[in-house]
Amino acid sequence: MKTAKIPATNQEFPIGKIVCLARNYAEHARELGNETPASPVLFMKPASAVISDGEAVRIPAYSRECHYEVELAVLIGKTACKVSIDQAMAHVAGYGVAIDMTLRDVQNQLKSKGLPWEIAKGFDTSCPLSPFVPAASVADPHGLRLCLGVNGEARQDGTSADMIHRVPQIVSYISGIFTLEPGDVILTGTPAGVGQVQAGDVMEAGISGVGTLKIPVSQG
Ligand code: MG
Repeated sequence: MKTAKIPATNQEFPIGKIVCLARNYAEHARELGNETPASPVLFMKPASAVISDGEAVRIPAYSRECHYEVELAVLIGKTACKVSIDQAMAHVAGYGVAIDMTLRDVQNQLKSKGLPWEIAKGFDTSCPLSPFVPAASVADPHGLRLCLGVNGEARQDGTSADMIHRVPQIVSYISGIFTLEPGDVILTGTPAGVGQVQAGDVMEAGISGVGTLKIPVSQG
């Protein structure tokens, strides 16, 4: 079983569903040639996709183009069903660093056929996830710097201030569709600068005041 840990409070939650936002940063939506959505665009990864700091992403044999996307992860600590924007933050237990690993070639093929993306987004090892910091220790989740480098070279450097849909809106919106339960995780989208990694590369990701991840890449 995969778990989400908050070391500062000794809390540990079995991870439930991982609900992810696509196109939540305008510049990233533009770099992939997508429109900026009026409502959050959601997809999910299974809990089995999670790996911890230091574990390797394994690129499946059915892809030739695996991309990184650094994202602020939100850990749910209290059941949220149809909560208002004002109530939303009371359900957040902590924040972490995630990398939404994406098989871009597979995703593009599926999108062009109108088919679901799961095999491009939810494969084993597709969700590197750091330990979480308590929500109370993050004064503003929209004032955080998100960075990702590959082999020591900077690739993504953005700020959560550029999110289109912000954390309270996201939690409220998702809770109106899927009841959020303790241990569920939300990935809030990625800033611009996504790109490809290959076997042998090492990714280092970080979010200011939240955490870091160092993740090697290998072949399936
Ligand atoms: Mg993403």
